Amino acid sequence: MEVFDLAESWSREHIAEIQTLRLKSTVEQTRKCAFYRQRLDAAGLGPGFVRSLDDLRRIPFTTKNDLRSQYPTGLLCVPQSEIVRMHCSSGTTGSPVAICHTQNDIHSWADLMARCMAMVGVRRDDVFQNMSGYGLFTGGLGIHFGAERLGCLTIPAGAGNSRRQIKLAKDFRTTVAHILPSYALILGEHLRSSGEDPRNLSLRIALVGAEPYTEEFRRRIEELFDMKAYNSYGLSEMNGPGVGFECLAQEGMHIWEDAFIPEIINPDTGEVVPDGEVGELVMTCLCREGMPILRYRTRDLTRFLPGDCPCGRKHRRIDRILGRSDDMFIIKGVNIYPMQVEQVLMAFPEVGQNYLIRLENEGLGDSMRVLVEVRDEYFVEDMRVLQNLQRTIAARLRDEILVTPKVELVESNSLPRAEGKAVRLQDMRNKN
Ligand code: ADP
Ligand code: ZN
Repeated sequence: MEVFDLAESWSREHIAEIQTLRLKSTVEQTRKCAFYRQRLDAAGLGPGFVRSLDDLRRIPFTTKNDLRSQYPTGLLCVPQSEIVRMHCSSGTTGSPVAICHTQNDIHSWADLMARCMAMVGVRRDDVFQNMSGYGLFTGGLGIHFGAERLGCLTIPAGAGNSRRQIKLAKDFRTTVAHILPSYALILGEHLRSSGEDPRNLSLRIALVGAEPYTEEFRRRIEELFDMKAYNSYGLSEMNGPGVGFECLAQEGMHIWEDAFIPEIINPDTGEVVPDGEVGELVMTCLCREGMPILRYRTRDLTRFLPGDCPCGRKHRRIDRILGRSDDMFIIKGVNIYPMQVEQVLMAFPEVGQNYLIRLENEGLGDSMRVLVEVRDEYFVEDMRVLQNLQRTIAARLRDEILVTPKVELVESNSLPRAEGKAVRLQDMRNKN
């Protein structure tokens, strides 16, 4: 195994040893802020209580609301003069939280990110185009510093503006891109609709993440551009990107356990679930001094993958994120995640790059409508073919989610597009 950082090749025993040491020091670090000191004391956890990794489970969870209540600087564990940068979460699910970093924090984050990129074969002679929004969003600067750390020619293209993205990618022969999954398909279609083949770009690798997407969606991206797409997971509360990343095997994302401790819990009881079961990911950072966070409830649902990864790394892997617990909706008593719908839709070659699930309130009860963009080449077919497609999609969806939605086929590019992360669900119930 070729590694960028020796920590990648650590054994389970060594990982556990280092985690214990770092958990001890991180917990002591958090005691420097009043919020954590009071919280730990209230739980009867005085200075030096961490003796082994098992003591982690005694620490109370930190929630998004805790972070909101301490906005902007209530969780600092160093004097503010030590802070060199702050980021905010995108605010997808409510008011944002602020995360502050020291210079050391920024360095170790860049190292982690560079490690992820190197793992999938990115090298210093690659040209890296970051098509993610810059600014408060961590997908911009977070990945940028990793790419520079690796030594890539780094193009901070920012989000959107497909014409400019394509021009840059052609002029500089971009080989690696960081891109939102929803935008990757939009960019590819943009090229195709102007009569160009996306495969003619020099792209060979894409780092794809920041929002949920299915395996089917990934395969589409890979085929469209004839490149490899690797899943990248992160969240601002744990730095941002660089937390979990797929290796060349593309069989789940390694969580860097020298820098984080992942746990998966039952969201209702808070108990750790048996390995392999789906639950909420909880993360503790081990290498941060500015604003370390203990047992953060991410609200992201996934599971640990059993067994060893063919790549040889022993850092545990999580499965593709199923969605956030907040994304789940209930129709006719059935719990549904948008990704279950996506999985069905993306299996149809006629389906284009965008879809929207709309929940409505119609006299008798709630109903679900799925608006589906159809590729141009299929949209011109005669009515009967389209009606047939509509019925087949509805039937497949019913098989998957046990509810029959209304399926509405619409033209390519007719559904609204988000500036950043895609909005897959629109809940119009009780809005009138
Ligand atoms: P916000 O929570 O406001 O969107 P962030 O920008 O910090 O703020 O985004 C982190 C969240 O994005 C994660 O908690 C997760 O829900 C989602 N996310 C990030 N990467 C992935 C990925 N590869 N697959 C699915 N979801 C992801
Ligand atoms: Zn691996």
